[in-house]
Amino acid sequence: MMKKFTVIAKQDKESEELRENIIEALIQTMEYSDKHPDLVISVGGDGTMLYGVHKYIDQLETVGFVGIHTGTLGFYTDYLKNEWQELIRDIQTKEPRIENRALLEVLYQEKKYYALNEMRLENNRRSQIIDVYIGNEHLETFRGNGLCVCTPSGSTAYNKSIQGALVEPNIRAMQLSEIAGINHNAYRSLGSSLILDESQYILLHALNYKNSVLCVDLESIELDDNEVLEVYLSKRTARFLDYREVSFVERLKKSFL
Ligand code: NAD
Repeated sequence: MMKKFTVIAKQDKESEELRENIIEALIQTMEYSDKHPDLVISVGGDGTMLYGVHKYIDQLETVGFVGIHTGTLGFYTDYLKNEWQELIRDIQTKEPRIENRALLEVLYQEKKYYALNEMRLENNRRSQIIDVYIGNEHLETFRGNGLCVCTPSGSTAYNKSIQGALVEPNIRAMQLSEIAGINHNAYRSLGSSLILDESQYILLHALNYKNSVLCVDLESIELDDNEVLEVYLSKRTARFLDYREVSFVERLKKSFL
């Protein structure tokens, strides 16, 4: 049974007020702990949930996440704002199904970044040349705006806008997709999205990263030239609490159809 909770909220009046209501209701039966919670309630949108997962990235093994959405779209949020009392009841009375959501590990200059949605290497000023390796095998020399590697959870986010496949979150895989790849007689890259399993890793190398940026979920990082990025499927996961047992198909219909 979970004992300690915290609530993170998007910085708008509605989300802040909802946060106060939730704390007031839950404090009757649970302890409030922003430092070491075992339950994190996110109030806002998918961006708020991303922020929450990163805030507790060092405690993922002991933290469960659940979301209420006050915005326009919620892929990580199962409750609407007017259902918050139902969420309180569910927390107090139900044992949730745990969804272990895959994360990416991005290694750059001996630092490790985690992604719940995706990492992107993007350049919107000039065509970015990137050598793509799968493990130690050279796959292609990509030219275009950039590349995106997403998790199954992130497949419905940026990846969807670049026509990547939507992947069921329980499949342990990562997907490499092109962002405006150039394909003609002189330059050629795969074009299709490529789905890899956890035994593989992606290595990206460019001699020149001028105007390029590495985006990992909400964070963006400037790159130095002639550097290598490695992307793995992490052994660590983010534990989402699925009280309502929402299916992937339901999520797709609710958000996109
Ligand atoms: P934001 O405010 O620009 O929101 C982008 C949209 O992506 C929001 O509608 C959000 O609900 C949605 N989204 C985020 N994660 C999702 C997921 N896993 N499945 C379905 N939809 C999802 O950005 P933010 O709130 O700061 O969130 C950052 C995320 O936004 C990035 O990780 C990226 O995936 C996404 N994004 C998408 C595009 C695009 O589709 N062209 C552009 C920028 C960022």
